Amino acid sequence: MPSSDFADYLCREHCPYYRIGTAETLACQGALTVAALVGRGRLPRAGLPEGTFPIPPTGHMSGLDERICGRCEFRAADCDFQAHPPIPDSLPCGGYRLLVLLLQSRRLTDADLATIDDV
Ligand code: SF4
Repeated sequence: MPSSDFADYLCREHCPYYRIGTAETLACQGALTVAALVGRGRLPRAGLPEGTFPIPPTGHMSGLDERICGRCEFRAADCDFQAHPPIPDSLPCGGYRLLVLLLQSRRLTDADLATIDDV
């Protein structure tokens, strides 16, 4: 993940793939989506869970797989969760996990995700 605002509040805390001290220039689509929703005022940053939060998905959410992972630069080579063939018990990135949590708690809707297709 890049050294950025959302790297501090999202990737560092919640992503199993985040490596402290790395200077990657790309960001996964999960993180970019959360950052866009925060930046557009749809998700108050103050209301986001802090520290560790439950890992909600026991499997894939088809809507996120298509809309988020389908446009992610890390999907092809760097994401165990979306690997082909599947890697058992692999975790999604922090952005995906947070989006699932927010969808399940109805703080976000599919319509919200449709508004960030340009991210
Ligand atoms: S789960 Fe993997 S492919 Fe999907 S957004 Fe996260 S890093 Fe990208």
